[in-house]
Amino acid sequence: MMKRLAILGSTGSIGQSTLSIVEQFPERYSVATLAAGRNVDEAFAQAAKWRPKLISLATEELAGELTARLKAAGVSGVEVAHGTAGTVACATYKDADFVVSAIVGVVGLEATHAAILAGRPVGLANKECMVAAGEILTRAARERNVPILPIDSEHNAVHQCMRVGAHSEVKFIWLTASGGPFRKLPREEFEHITPEQALKHPTWVMGRRITIDSATMLNKGLEVIEACRLFDVPASQVRVTVHPQSTVHSLVEYVDGSILAQISVTDMRLPILYALAYPERPQSTLTFDLTQLKHLDFEEPDLVRFPCLRLSYEAAAKGGAHCIALNAADEIAVEAFLDRRIGFNGIPRTIEEVLSRTPESHPETIAEVLRVDEESRARARELTRS
Ligand code: MG
Repeated sequence: MMKRLAILGSTGSIGQSTLSIVEQFPERYSVATLAAGRNVDEAFAQAAKWRPKLISLATEELAGELTARLKAAGVSGVEVAHGTAGTVACATYKDADFVVSAIVGVVGLEATHAAILAGRPVGLANKECMVAAGEILTRAARERNVPILPIDSEHNAVHQCMRVGAHSEVKFIWLTASGGPFRKLPREEFEHITPEQALKHPTWVMGRRITIDSATMLNKGLEVIEACRLFDVPASQVRVTVHPQSTVHSLVEYVDGSILAQISVTDMRLPILYALAYPERPQSTLTFDLTQLKHLDFEEPDLVRFPCLRLSYEAAAKGGAHCIALNAADEIAVEAFLDRRIGFNGIPRTIEEVLSRTPESHPETIAEVLRVDEESRARARELTRS
């Protein structure tokens, strides 16, 4: 059956990879709606090519610009919306069968929640959603029996390995981490790390924040929290292993001693295709040459050199507001680091300080989540002001 997609974050890298899969599998997938953000040129190109029923941009002004350009180009039948309401309309559009949630940050939260409430299966690439509101989203999804299929490569791998055994038979989820560019750097040199050094990631080309988050290993910490929510396990059952080759995308250890790993090419189109096609596996061209595998290394992460990982485990154990604050404080701290207002060690220092000022609470609504998020950002801004 043809799946009609709502793609939230269509101009970002996951959105574009999703569209390349639609292009490759026209008999399986079509585009119903696109939420495109701020890039009007790319939004125009996508609207002209894919002819979605509805496309949404970040602001009213950008939406007006797109409407005018579509009219001038003679493109009709594409409705243009804007803002959070526009993104929510894309996510809940009546003719959309599947929602790809790939808007970076908590901006995509309301739309993802709305998609679940409307009973739409979600392919989730937005880890901030799960970190900030995972308890609310997974509860809503369970109540309505709506699948959430992870697109993040590690969680996608875990999802695949979890199909092999029962939930009660899982001993540990092992998330692999590349270790980032500073895997071997001595601790005393961390304070001299520059934004340029931190922006060079050894294996994946990604956005600026996630690249810095990989260098501090906060990214892996967010993924620990994401795994707890997606797979309904406590943080004590989620372990991180440093695997510099990034070939094993993650593993699941079962109580009988078997460990299952997922290995594939490092290409985001594979987890996207898996999420879209689940429970089927369509034939693809994304092959991996096993003879390239000379060795696989696994090391224990160093929580002293990478305090962001320790802070993430602490936040994961407390849940609720502490996870929201962890994510929000990091985003502000990374901005400050890239602006050279704080050093590399200032990132974990800022997060730790914000966490220590965050009262324990468990928000029950998205509005409450967004309020804690805003408060945490304000605290982090205060701490990183130069
Ligand atoms: Mg990942």
